Amino acid sequence: MSHTAEIIAVGTELLLGNIVNTNARDISQALSAVGVNVFWHTVVGDNPQRLKEALDIARRRADIIITTGGLGPTYDDLTKQTICEAFGKPLVLHPDILETIRVYFEKNVHMKMPSNNVQQAELPKGCTVFDNSVGTAPGCAFEADGVHVLMLPGPPFEMLTMLKNHVVPYLRRLSSEVIVSHDIMTFGLGESPMEELLREKMSHMENPSLATYAKPSEVRLRATAKAASQEEAEAMLAPVVKEVTDFLGDYVYGVDVPGLENACMALLKERGLTFATAESCTGGRVAERITALPGASAVYRGGVVSYWTGVKADVLGVPAEMLDTYGAVSEQTAKAMAQGARRITGADIAVSVTGVAGPDPDERGVPVGIVYIGLATPEGTFCRPCDFGKRRRDRIQDLASNHAFDVLRRCLTGLPISLS
Ligand code: ATP
Ligand code: MG
Repeated sequence: MSHTAEIIAVGTELLLGNIVNTNARDISQALSAVGVNVFWHTVVGDNPQRLKEALDIARRRADIIITTGGLGPTYDDLTKQTICEAFGKPLVLHPDILETIRVYFEKNVHMKMPSNNVQQAELPKGCTVFDNSVGTAPGCAFEADGVHVLMLPGPPFEMLTMLKNHVVPYLRRLSSEVIVSHDIMTFGLGESPMEELLREKMSHMENPSLATYAKPSEVRLRATAKAASQEEAEAMLAPVVKEVTDFLGDYVYGVDVPGLENACMALLKERGLTFATAESCTGGRVAERITALPGASAVYRGGVVSYWTGVKADVLGVPAEMLDTYGAVSEQTAKAMAQGARRITGADIAVSVTGVAGPDPDERGVPVGIVYIGLATPEGTFCRPCDFGKRRRDRIQDLASNHAFDVLRRCLTGLPISLS
């Protein structure tokens, strides 16, 4: 039987916009992995009457209710009391939990347990206790009138620890299904053309299903299967992933790969090659993305942020006449920057970025969004001209760094570096 869950986050801070409801996101992700459908997220303030109303609605439409927040010892922490009243459950003091909280205070806070923490050791009669290994308030779960009610603390680290250690095993026992997903990562094809291409396939598919998620110039295709076991779900997914990957061909840069830089790093390692960068309008974003990955030193030699024309000329060796004739934002300069980075670092391959990130055109009148990605390899130098149009500066920088990695990926896989 499949279950339907509602997450109720309790806290006035959330309603005021002082904090973001990350707990609901994290619980949803965990529930999806164990095959529980989350159909509603509710946020309610620290107010017993409104929490009761929220519970009344939730118990009519969901058979799993998960709350976060309001399990602390202060006057505004009313979740447990309110839930117990709503479900007619008495609160019972657990001496062993009281002892655990007392010891926690002595060990971690170096003080005697304040008297109002006693109420944290009171839990609904007959509940399953979720002990809190990283804080004081335990969580708990009980079943009443066919509804499972789970209460978790608000602080994200405590909530996450309990989610992993207690909630997921608890729900696994309830659920007869698992949900497994694989992400097919693509670059260079927009979301609409992608949907157009896949419309036939996507419209017929329910289980496994196929959904698209777009980021700048990237589309993640998520194939998801529900089945009785992990093995069964994997067996259902394998042919779909293969078919879609084959169909999209060169646009696919990996399956379950976090980003283009990860794909490039793996390819460079596999081929035993190194690369370097020369960046102007991206200000080091390509370098930053590759060095964020552990093990980057095996494949990345270094880079130059050649923002000023003088650095392009003096450090990278772009000829002054070239800069005069074609400008800093040009195919010629992009290629010369890449050659310079390759020469001074001794890397096998170098990638360069020069362009206009805006908000104003450059001094020669090159419009915002024009970017050239240069590539220098032992075989020669190449360039991908891009026109991203007038967009926000950081979007242009993100797109440009994505294209730099895509040029590198295509070079490493022997594909033409132009996208068309
Ligand atoms: P405490 O014992 O700290 O009082 P609690 O279970 O009573 O824990 P709250 O008082 O509701 O939880 O929240 C404690 C803190 O946890 C908040 O100040 C906030 O920083 C964080 N928090 C609460 N709810 C959420 C949520 N839904 N998403 C992210 N953070 C949250
Ligand atoms: Mg609190």
